[in-house]
Amino acid sequence: MKWRDRKGFTLVEVVITVAIIGIVAAKATQNAMRVREEARETKCLANIRNLQSALDMARMDSGYIGSNKTAAQLEATLVPAYMKPMPECNSGGVYSTDADSVVHCDVHAP
Ligand SMILES: [Zn+2]
Repeated sequence: MKWRDRKGFTLVEVVITVAIIGIVAAKATQNAMRVREEARETKCLANIRNLQSALDMARMDSGYIGSNKTAAQLEATLVPAYMKPMPECNSGGVYSTDADSVVHCDVHAP
């Protein structure tokens, strides 16, 4: 049988093609997941900056506001006077402050 007389593809050709498509799809999915997580982290860092600014404004208005605040205490201090609504980390992180009143996310900036 000559090459030009053949119709269709052999099983080996189909298997190799499907394998290549599978590898490319896996790489593309992996890359998309990484980009998605980077976007979540960027948004979270913006939330942290906003929370820190609001916390600084609250401190200027009322003097001492305390440290080591949990997410609920942060929300009670800042919402609704300094920000509304309370920002949320899209990766499920929880915001809190440390002993120096610096805001952290337990997922992105622990
Ligand atoms: Zn976060």
